[in-house]
Amino acid sequence: MNFEHSGKVKALQARLTAFMEQHVYPAEKQFAAEMDAARRAGNPWQPAPVMEQLKDKARAADLWNLFLPAHEGEGGLTNLEYAPLCAIMGRSAIGAEPFNCSAPDTGNMETLLRYGSEAQKREWLAPLLDGKIRSAFAMTEPAVASSDATNIEARIERDGDHYVINARKWWTSGANDPRCKILVFMGKTDPEGANRHQRQSMVLVPLDTPGVTVLRHLPVFGYDDAPHGHAEVLFENVRVPVTNVLLGEGRGFEIAQGRLGPGRIHHCMRLIGRAERALEAMCQRTTQRTAFGRRIADQGVTRERIANARILIDQARFLVLHAAWKMDEVGNKAARKEIAMIKVAAPAMACQVIDWAIQAHGGGGVSDDFGLARAYASARTIRLADGPDEVHRNAIAKMELAAYL
Ligand SMILES: Cc1cc2nc3c(=O)[nH]c(=O)nc-3n(C[C@H](O)[C@H](O)[C@H](O)COP(=O)(O)OP(=O)(O)OC[C@H]3O[C@@H](n4cnc5c(N)ncnc54)[C@H](O)[C@@H]3O)c2cc1C
Repeated sequence: MNFEHSGKVKALQARLTAFMEQHVYPAEKQFAAEMDAARRAGNPWQPAPVMEQLKDKARAADLWNLFLPAHEGEGGLTNLEYAPLCAIMGRSAIGAEPFNCSAPDTGNMETLLRYGSEAQKREWLAPLLDGKIRSAFAMTEPAVASSDATNIEARIERDGDHYVINARKWWTSGANDPRCKILVFMGKTDPEGANRHQRQSMVLVPLDTPGVTVLRHLPVFGYDDAPHGHAEVLFENVRVPVTNVLLGEGRGFEIAQGRLGPGRIHHCMRLIGRAERALEAMCQRTTQRTAFGRRIADQGVTRERIANARILIDQARFLVLHAAWKMDEVGNKAARKEIAMIKVAAPAMACQVIDWAIQAHGGGGVSDDFGLARAYASARTIRLADGPDEVHRNAIAKMELAAYL
C-alpha cells in the first residue's frame, strides 16, 4: 500500500480546491436563498438556477464525472485516486452535484456502465453522464424490513414482451426532482425460487411510465433536501419492456452487491470532507470567543475534543483509503469487509465530530447559520442508508468468525 497521491491526483486536488473556493462555497448561501424562495412560492421541487451555473462552470473547467472508474475507459480514476477528490466535494452540502458526482447518480451510472446493455447505455447512461437528467434507486419498501433485501415484496411479473410492476417504495432519494427521469427498480421476478438470492431482478423504470406515482416526500429531521428529496412512490400495473431488465432475471442481488460498494464508499469519502470542515469551523469559532475569562479553545474539554476529532477523522480517512485500495486491487466483492468497516466507521465519526462542532458553536450550532445542523442530519442518515450499521457489523463479524466456525 502506498497512499502518497500521484502527481495527477495532486493536480486535480489543487484544481478542485480552487474551484470549491472560487465557486462552490460562495454559492452555498445563494443556493439556500433560491430554494427558500422556491419554497415560499409553493414549489421547491425544481432545480436551483445557481446549481445549473455551477455545473456549466465545472464542465468548462474539466472537473466533470470524476467518479468514473478507471477500468471503464480512458481518463477514469481508481477508487484510491477518487477518494481524496470526493472528500473535497463532500466539504459542502452542495459540493458533489456541480461535478456530476452526486448520490445516487454515481452508483446508478456505475451500474449502467457495468451491467447495462448497449441500448440501455445509449438511452440512459449518456444523458446521465452529460448531467442532463438524474436518477433514483428504488429498493426500500415501507411494508417490510428492507435492510434484509430478501424481504422485498415488489412484484415484477412477465406478460409477453413486458414486465408488469406493482409495489410501494419509499426513501427513493431523488425521485422528487423533476430532472429525475429513470429509476433503477428492485423487485421479485421469481418470489418462490429455491435460491432466495436469485428471486430479485433490477429493472429500469422511466419515471413518466403510466402507473408510477410519486406520493410524497419524506423529510429528514425536518429538512426536505429539495430539490432532490426522498420520495414514497407507488407502482400500479406499471408496464415496461422486458429489455429494461438489467443483466437478466434473477440477477438483482448480484447487481446490488456491485452497485452498493462504490455508492457506500463515496458516502464515506464525502463524510470525511464534511467532518474536516466541521473541525475547521470548531477551531475558528472557539479561538474567536471567550467565556469565563478564557478563549473557548483554551478550555481543556475543547482541546480534548479537537484532538479526538483529528484522530477520528484521520482514522476514518485511512480506513477509506484502505478500502478504496482493496476495491482497486481485488474488486468490490472481495473488498466487502473493508467496505462494510468504513460504512460503519465514517458516519459514526462524522456524527461525533459534527456534534462536537455544534456544541462548540453554542446555540448557533443548531441554527441554519453554520450549516452544522444540516450536516449532522445528513451524516446521521448514512448510519441507515445503504444498510444500517448493525447489518454491516453482522457481515464483518461473520467474515471474521468464518475461520473459527
Ligand atoms: C436519507 C435516506 C436516504 C435513503 N435513500 C435510499 C434510496 O435512494 N433507495 C433505497 O432503496 N433506499 C434508501 N434508503 C433506505 C435505507 O437504505 C433503509 O432505510 C435501510 O436499508 C434500512 O431499511 P429499513 O428502513 O426498512 O429498516 P429495517 O430493515 O426495518 O431495520 C430497522 C432497524 O433494525 C435493526 N436491524 C436490522 N437488521 C439487523 C440485524 N441484522 N442485526 C441487528 N439489528 C438489525 C437496525 O437498527 C435497523 O436500523 C434511504 C434511507 C434514508 C434515511
